[in-house]
Amino acid sequence: MAFYAVIVCGGDATRMGPMQTSKTLIPVNGVPAVIRCLHAFRKAGCECVLVIRPSDEALFRKALLAWHADAKLVYGGADRQASVKNGLDAIEDRDAFVLIHDGARPMITPAFVADCMQFALEHGSAVPAVPVTDTLKKCTDGDVKTVSREGLYRTQTPQCFRLQDLLKAYALADGSYTDEAALFEHAGLPVCLCRGMAENVKLTQREDIALAERLSQKIYRTGFGLDAHRFEKGRKLILCGVEVPYDRGLLGHSDADAPLHALTDALLGAAAMGDIGQWFPDTDERFRGISSVLLLKRVAQHLCGKGIRIVNADVTIVCQRPKLMPYIDAMRRTTAEALGVPTACVSVKATTTEHMGYEGREEGISAHAVATVAVDPLMTEMEAEHDPE
Ligand code: MG
Repeated sequence: MAFYAVIVCGGDATRMGPMQTSKTLIPVNGVPAVIRCLHAFRKAGCECVLVIRPSDEALFRKALLAWHADAKLVYGGADRQASVKNGLDAIEDRDAFVLIHDGARPMITPAFVADCMQFALEHGSAVPAVPVTDTLKKCTDGDVKTVSREGLYRTQTPQCFRLQDLLKAYALADGSYTDEAALFEHAGLPVCLCRGMAENVKLTQREDIALAERLSQKIYRTGFGLDAHRFEKGRKLILCGVEVPYDRGLLGHSDADAPLHALTDALLGAAAMGDIGQWFPDTDERFRGISSVLLLKRVAQHLCGKGIRIVNADVTIVCQRPKLMPYIDAMRRTTAEALGVPTACVSVKATTTEHMGYEGREEGISAHAVATVAVDPLMTEMEAEHDPE
């Protein structure tokens, strides 16, 4: 049996601030809501149709390309009902089942979709619903009355029907309906409720995005980085983006900021995205003399764009001289700013080696760093690829 998903992506984000585009393009932990939906349906074995506004087409094509996602794009109609109908008309297999889904519900999982599909196969339709657990009040002109919640459910999407049944319901529709189940019910067809998913929130208000991000799972990963540079007279000594007054600096293709190089490597290590040498080769003239703050910032922004959140960083600078204590706070602030995290999430420490080794002989400075990042498991599933730009 073939299953198609019709994902409605028309609704704009007017209640979410100054956004002109579909709210289904809003990233949740770095992954646009619509891409999360597509992932769940594809994994469950559905062909997908996205119903979009013509003005959003370029943005949707760009998102599909960026996330290696595949879907048929169909233009919506005057209202939700007409939009869904356009999506249904794009399905050639008339014997198929169809799942109508609201693209602003990004938290669905492949398992949940598969459960809805199985339920529809067994019962003819599947409408996920959760029982109302709050006490309900009806307020009329200031007069408040408690309403029984017995037998009351909140319905969600995806709602799954036989395509032919749903088309029959469309033919009999004579009003506007807030979901496909209502239309189905109006046609006298049996609506079968299946178990909804508590996390299946709909992005309506701005705070719903934060809620969805809290609900999505996280995997924590730690990376390690190590770097060392040799002293050279006549160069500035830059450590964690801060110039430390001294009679020599570190030699390198960039500004030779060893602790930030170690930290950049720690982040790339945590994300399993290569190393600083691959990202910024020392044979590339664009990076000659460049501030390592910019290199770190570029990596941090790339991780952020991939939905990888930086949790904390800890850097140790191994340096016999000069004394670094007076500069530590400035180093933490500069580093935190480059990472886009609060200063409280960044630690910078300095130590000597009691005159042992190359740092102790004051030939150079080394630095060690560890960084922890939080990754949405969806990201790893979608095989975020090493992409320097
Ligand atoms: Mg280096």
